[in-house]
Amino acid sequence: MNEYLVLVVEDDKPIRNLITTTLKMNGYRFITAGRGDEAIMLSASHKPDIIILDLGLPDIDGVDVIGSIRAWSDVPIIIVSARSDDKDKITALDKGADDYLTKPFSVEELLARLRVIQRRIIKSENGPLTEFVNGRLRIDYISNCVYTDGEELHLTPIEYKLLCLLAKNAGKVLTHKYIIQSVWGNPVENSESSLRVFMATLRKKLNDSNQALIQTHIGIGYRMMKL
Ligand code: CA
Repeated sequence: MNEYLVLVVEDDKPIRNLITTTLKMNGYRFITAGRGDEAIMLSASHKPDIIILDLGLPDIDGVDVIGSIRAWSDVPIIIVSARSDDKDKITALDKGADDYLTKPFSVEELLARLRVIQRRIIKSENGPLTEFVNGRLRIDYISNCVYTDGEELHLTPIEYKLLCLLAKNAGKVLTHKYIIQSVWGNPVENSESSLRVFMATLRKKLNDSNQALIQTHIGIGYRMMKL
């Protein structure tokens, strides 16, 4: 039995049933809400471990639901949105959502996202780290050295900052805007194309041309996978 409690916020009944059936079959506990105000109430009263949140709700916007919940809680939030809502998706990720599913999505996709979140929950319970190990990658936060397969990489300060940001948020999709603000502070002109160039060089150094470690989310941002 899986001990995670999932709050499913979705007003579309067939989709809600698909999600809850999947959760049930895989041993998750769940509670459901069809409205945003109900979602905020339930997340305060039941303290779920994970929230799956539809962005298009009948009362309040899903993005505002994230804003409310983030005022008091870091609970991982997976947003569900229609393909046409790319702008909303980015706003939601910037507001603090962790990941997204685009409708229509498969049951396997949903379960994969939940596993990513669970690995993050386990990791964050282990306290502050002096090093980060993920597959072939190792970052030594004390000496600021990065290794793949034990071999030291020579990164520029920006590349190192970029890599540490992705590592710190491993499993989470980071938007271009978030990355640019975190690494450079104020966005400058052509920030996004600079970011692409830095990312390409970083990937080359990490030998990650197949994107096994750092995933591109076209038009949205990047995510370091937990290997
Ligand atoms: Ca909806």
